Amino acid sequence: MRLVLLGPPGAGKGTQARALGALWHIPQIASGDLLRAAVYEGTELGREARTFMDRGQLVPDELVLKLIAERLTHRDAQAGFILDGFPRSVSQAEALAEMIGRKRWAIDKVVAVIVPDQEIVQRISGRRTCKGCNAMYHVKFEPPKIAGVCDKCGGELYQRADDVEATVRERLNVYETNTRPLLDHYRRLGLLAEVDGVGRTEEVAKRIIGALEGLLPASGTASKP
Ligand code: AMP
Repeated sequence: MRLVLLGPPGAGKGTQARALGALWHIPQIASGDLLRAAVYEGTELGREARTFMDRGQLVPDELVLKLIAERLTHRDAQAGFILDGFPRSVSQAEALAEMIGRKRWAIDKVVAVIVPDQEIVQRISGRRTCKGCNAMYHVKFEPPKIAGVCDKCGGELYQRADDVEATVRERLNVYETNTRPLLDHYRRLGLLAEVDGVGRTEEVAKRIIGALEGLLPASGTASKP
């Protein structure tokens, strides 16, 4: 299964990609996580990317493509993957098709997770992320058992610099301008499914699995190379 999850920031792509990846034994590949790791490690790419990320703008393709291309060479990605946050523009989608085409792979499906803007701002401004394992919580809707501490790994929870309201609004503008045209792009290619992203995590996961009918074994639980 080679899946792309599309949707605005805060649509729940990360949560879904992680859960479905665990179910199907394939990795979630999140461009935002790869970029934040590069920033944290203080690499040259990370330093360059940071100025764009802090402003809620897209990091130049060349940097993102480098990280994705490298990640796709890892052993765990050979049998399939879920891309989360990438591609984010038509140019990235074209570069992705070329990159994986060289490996004789193709994207099986693109699922767009749809959530209204006002809900997104509410979701993201309460979001907390684990420094250790990137798990996500919400101060109101999905609080950790102990405030500030990750239930899964005990790591420290923090608010991402770009999760403050003004930057979230900028990220939504960037989504409208650069990423929304991708829906048409993938619709034309016959790959797009749209699912309602409002509701409990398990409900949204079921909708995504429903949209993948024919691509999964009957139970929807096994991995498909
Ligand atoms: P995310 O964690 O997906 O919300 O991404 C956080 C930030 O990383 C975005 O606001 C962008 O600045 C940058 N970013 C993540 N993925 C991409 C991408 N595919 N292309 C360009 N910039 C990206």
